[in-house]
Amino acid sequence: MVDLQGQYAKIETQINQALQEVLLDTSFINGPAVHNFQKNLETYLGVKHVIPCANGTDALQIALMGLGLKPGDEVITADFTFAATVEVIALLQLTPVLVDVDPDTFNIDVAAVEAAISPKTKAIIPVHLFGQAAPMEPLMALAKKHNIFVVEDNAQGIGATYTFADGRQAKTGTIGHVATTSFFPSKNLGAYGDGGALFTNDDQLAHTLRGIVNHGMYQRYHHDVVGVNSRLDALQAAILNVKLPYLDAYNEARKAAAIKYTERLQNHPKITTPHREADCNSHVFHQYTLKIKEADRDALVAYLNEQGIPTGVYYPIPLHAQKAYRDARYKEHDFEITNALVEQVISLPMHTELTDAQIDYICKHILQFLNA
Ligand SMILES: *Cc1c(COP(=O)(O)O)cnc(C)c1O
Repeated sequence: MVDLQGQYAKIETQINQALQEVLLDTSFINGPAVHNFQKNLETYLGVKHVIPCANGTDALQIALMGLGLKPGDEVITADFTFAATVEVIALLQLTPVLVDVDPDTFNIDVAAVEAAISPKTKAIIPVHLFGQAAPMEPLMALAKKHNIFVVEDNAQGIGATYTFADGRQAKTGTIGHVATTSFFPSKNLGAYGDGGALFTNDDQLAHTLRGIVNHGMYQRYHHDVVGVNSRLDALQAAILNVKLPYLDAYNEARKAAAIKYTERLQNHPKITTPHREADCNSHVFHQYTLKIKEADRDALVAYLNEQGIPTGVYYPIPLHAQKAYRDARYKEHDFEITNALVEQVISLPMHTELTDAQIDYICKHILQFLNA
């Protein structure tokens, strides 16, 4: 699904040198590598504050802690996403409220969010799923009207650009009250281990978050709030600092691969290729995900696997149907789209090193299976 070796080979000298610097400097915790990466990412995103942390799941938890949410507060998020989003809501004893998604973009459905808002709603967590910007402008308008927070889960969308109705543009992760990301190795900006960060333009919130990631300390050994220990490792920061200048090129390579896949697959009656806005910068293709209709998706997965083609089913089970997150309030007819998507979706290999020959081989076998 990814080719981290091929990507490393192209930047090997730079990476090794950056690691060597940290080793010689021995500033393994919160040293210059972490600080430099923080500053460089702030500049890249055009956001006032980046707060590095240990991983993307911690980032979500810390965001909700920083907003001061209390047990029983409701947080709305998408039914069709990775479990980390709902996991942290439940972990903090907040009440997850899962809602359905848009059948074309796979992103959280604004009308479903609106219908789910109650007097207890304190936050919405849109996920820029598979790298495609969620509908931030209508979500921010809803949030303003109801006085609730928006936490962008940008783990899959780093580098994507959102365009507002008036033409103004902003990077995903800089629009909500706070945003989170992950530097898991397979993410668009991947470390060689775990890593994560929060972004915000709010000075006060940034201050709060910087304390929470460090045991709730704002002054050494003074613990003002309950915090956690969640730091971005200095070696990972050094790696990310080398990779950040390549992020746009990496995302362009993903987009180029996506365009080639779509060219070869778009006219088949059993395939729906991923939705893309005319402005193709709103999608950075963390995943390239097809919908397969009137064919056995699982048999296709098995067939491709036999041809040496890895695929992924993101995600095979709706969150509302997961044992840990079932709730009597959920009604199956509220999740029609997610219930259908989990049967239809298949994600193809997507990374920065895909060759035309690989894409041809993959598409040829998909078409062969569906035409048989
Ligand atoms: C990867 C991911 C996370 C979690 O990130 P980790 O760094 O693995 O903890 C959260 N949300 C989404 C949407 C993700 O894709």
